[in-house]
Amino acid sequence: MAETARRIDRIDTAPRFTAADVARLNARFEGVGTEDVIRTVLAEKLLGEVAVVSSFGAESAVLLDLVARADPSTPVLFLETGKMFPETLGYRDLLAERLGLTDLRNITPDPAVIDAKDATGLRWSYDPDGCCEIRKVIPLAAAMKGFDASITGRKGFQASTRTGIPRFELDGDRIKFNPLADWTKADLDAWFESRDLPRHPLEAQGYLSIGCAPCTSVVKPGEDPRAGRWRGWDKVECGIHGEPIVRPGEEPVF
Ligand code: SF4
Repeated sequence: MAETARRIDRIDTAPRFTAADVARLNARFEGVGTEDVIRTVLAEKLLGEVAVVSSFGAESAVLLDLVARADPSTPVLFLETGKMFPETLGYRDLLAERLGLTDLRNITPDPAVIDAKDATGLRWSYDPDGCCEIRKVIPLAAAMKGFDASITGRKGFQASTRTGIPRFELDGDRIKFNPLADWTKADLDAWFESRDLPRHPLEAQGYLSIGCAPCTSVVKPGEDPRAGRWRGWDKVECGIHGEPIVRPGEEPVF
């Protein structure tokens, strides 16, 4: 009797995406307009399962509008840290309604973790990295479990630390898609105007980059737009964009 071929089970351990995939995507869409890139990426599912990560801050409406025009059912993840300005929460609801976003997800920290590590709610004042870790980094990592890529609103002009960011970049083995990477402030303003998009209510008061209330301040003339974030601290990012948070004696937290 012929021996039955032995079936070999394989576990697929290949990464979702590699640096070569990122290079191919950046090359394919070089010179292609932002709207066309977004439409193609979403329609052809080039990045697999994708979610927008939005702060619903001063410039967020542009990316959300572009994505909504391509596919309003794209999941939008909002980190509701428990420390947001009430104006941001109202703006989130206004934009979701106005743009017809049908899959807005509010990502909140684990209450047990907050009880254990920030019972007073004041961790931001003495350990902002630790606060971002429990209120943003860990909840977002959990929310991203089912996704292969994220779409961000990061722009190169926002801060010296963001200059030259590419449209597509590797984020672990996921892809981070930055459709507005090369947009200028004038481009954003023109889009707001042409689409008659509502502005964040705090922008007129000088808040140019808006995050959690305790860690956001007014930007002075001549400063980077993100200079108002964590003012007085040697901290420029919250850790959700892959920049490591490094604390003395500990491994980096991404
Ligand atoms: S931005 Fe401030 S309040 Fe918000 S999670 Fe980070 S440290 Fe905490």
